[in-house]
Amino acid sequence: MPIETKYRTCNLCEAICGLEIKVEDNKVISIRGDEEDTFSRGHICPKAVGLKDLHEDPDRLKNPLIKRNGQWHETTWEEAIAYAARSIVDVQITHGKDAVAVYQGNPSVHNLGTSLFSPDFVRSIKTKNRYSATSVDQLGHHLAAETMFGNGLFVPVPDINRTDFWVIIGGNPMVSNGSMMTAPDIRGRIRDIQEREGRIVVIDPRFTETSEKADEHIFIKPGTDIWLLMGLMNFVYQNDNIQLGHLADAIDEYKIEAIGQAVDSFDLDIVASRTKISKEKLSQFYTDYCNANRAVLYGRLGISANKFGGLCHWAINTLNILTGNFDTEGGAMFTNPAVNVSSKKSPVPRFGRWHSRVRNLPEYGGELPSSTLAEDILEPGEGQIRALITSCGNPVLSVPNGRKLDDAFESLDFMVSIDIYLNETTRHADVILPPATGLETPHYPIGFHNLAIHNTANYSDAAVDKSEGALYDWEIFSRLKKEVEEYRLEKTGEEKSDKPTFTLEQKLGFLLEFGPHKLSLEELKKHPHGLDLGALEPQLPKRLITPDGKLNIYPDIYQKAVERLVNSQVEEDHEFLLIGRRNLRSNNSWMHNLHRMTKGPNTCTALVHPEDAETYNINDGDHIKIRSRINVVEIPAEVSDEIMKGTISIPHGWGHNREGIRLQTASAKAGVSFNDLADDQLVDELSGVSVINAIPVSIEV
Ligand code: SF4
Repeated sequence: MPIETKYRTCNLCEAICGLEIKVEDNKVISIRGDEEDTFSRGHICPKAVGLKDLHEDPDRLKNPLIKRNGQWHETTWEEAIAYAARSIVDVQITHGKDAVAVYQGNPSVHNLGTSLFSPDFVRSIKTKNRYSATSVDQLGHHLAAETMFGNGLFVPVPDINRTDFWVIIGGNPMVSNGSMMTAPDIRGRIRDIQEREGRIVVIDPRFTETSEKADEHIFIKPGTDIWLLMGLMNFVYQNDNIQLGHLADAIDEYKIEAIGQAVDSFDLDIVASRTKISKEKLSQFYTDYCNANRAVLYGRLGISANKFGGLCHWAINTLNILTGNFDTEGGAMFTNPAVNVSSKKSPVPRFGRWHSRVRNLPEYGGELPSSTLAEDILEPGEGQIRALITSCGNPVLSVPNGRKLDDAFESLDFMVSIDIYLNETTRHADVILPPATGLETPHYPIGFHNLAIHNTANYSDAAVDKSEGALYDWEIFSRLKKEVEEYRLEKTGEEKSDKPTFTLEQKLGFLLEFGPHKLSLEELKKHPHGLDLGALEPQLPKRLITPDGKLNIYPDIYQKAVERLVNSQVEEDHEFLLIGRRNLRSNNSWMHNLHRMTKGPNTCTALVHPEDAETYNINDGDHIKIRSRINVVEIPAEVSDEIMKGTISIPHGWGHNREGIRLQTASAKAGVSFNDLADDQLVDELSGVSVINAIPVSIEV
């Protein structure tokens, strides 16, 4: 058989790197960066070759599994889908529509079929109990976009191709490869900023891989980023640095005044005492930011998932706006993608229209905070969740209080998982539906083109054939929806949806044709290295989609949150604060069953500062116990001055030591689950986002 060369975008992370894949007789021979890719220019990270390993992983499920008397058995698609659909409907008939919940994991947006076809299926279930990974780490971005610009998916990204001063707070793009910011080759782009005499400043409780490449690192006490940001806002007002530029007419002046009054108390003394950054350092950083020609603030997980995560993202947007670094080159900008996911106006912000049953936390975009899922299942009473659908997510490892979720999932009347692995979550299911995945699927990264630092469009055909009899994810969702509607009609007489059905290519084709660039899928297919649609351009106020067409710089919900912040007490009743971290070869829990991604030294360690280690008589490699309010875990210590004193860091995604999983490589390494310590009761009061940074813990030796 001749060796074929296939080009496609990598779907493992947000960077959407172009890949050149050699295939012989439906076997992957090699994977390397596509030098001609219009966006990534040949860049890839070590995870790219993981796609081959994922494709060949003997633990990957190819056929549906059904549990009978506690044992798993392979079954037919017909039986598995009918069983799943009928069980969902039966639970709803007995206990009401909301008795069935849906959890969608992060890979949902990395798979075209799931992105396009799961929404119709989820809508057909008609439940208000929907959860996803969004509320674990990125809800603040969407809430700010929804309330300030009119659509939660209209999220600005830092124009790092043209900025002179990039401030990264709580993010580590050298390892994440960009998050809520699609930017392949971060290392090269950092180098470009420095070559044009720009600067990069990282603010983080840990000296990260990005800090190593940056010009300055500032340590900050975990969870206090909001004080740093409010202090900067105060500095901007005090020093008359407000420059609204072309946005002046789109912003109500009285709101600018109201913000000035609200931030008045955030002086250097109070910010220094909260953040543990010296007044001199704060003053220098604030001055540098205000003096930079083209500056941009970017905040990610460290600020997104803490007690004031929602407010942090309002503050970042507001600072970029107030200082003239918004919707301008080198500041925070909006994309103009071929498939625009944020064109629709919401008549009212989609926030707080209903609340979670037990803790009364607000919905956003039709989803409730995932930290409430376990209690919404376990707490008896009207509206209790009795059945669950999970789609490419592993909440037992990725949502706070995984042990409680274990108990909750085990108590369900029925559970179905659409997933390629028998993992820590899906082991609780009654039936698992594994779709064809990765290199076997066509791809178009809809979500990530919407967050990209340069406008491109890139469609990929499948690189290899799926295994015989396998179904694609869109086929599974379509068949589930059809079966649910037909069975419900039979049992209750409820009418089926009369919406026409489409194929994957038809759906994508419509979205492209009706998008701003009016592309045809056929035309796009002629460009295997992608189409360059140009640099980001100013788009406001024209693209604002708020009800009054203005930029709402100070929505009501943030006014109340600022009051809460001002009245908040300093919390010193903890020995340590726990933060997470990520490893380049890992993608939360996804990649741990791939030998090449997990070989070498154990990376699931607790980082402890040398002075703290001395106090507790801890040596490098010692096993220490870390206790939070909910649990205690044992983990090897790694003594390092890269972590701030008083802080401990454990990576996310580990903990493959649960019974009943079928992940040979991951089980061998096991590690400890961060979310066995993360407390489900800790959420940002404003947005409901989980608190997975600055969790109070103690050390036991
Ligand atoms: S950076 Fe992300 S998209 Fe690029 S090769 Fe690595 S995992 Fe794939």
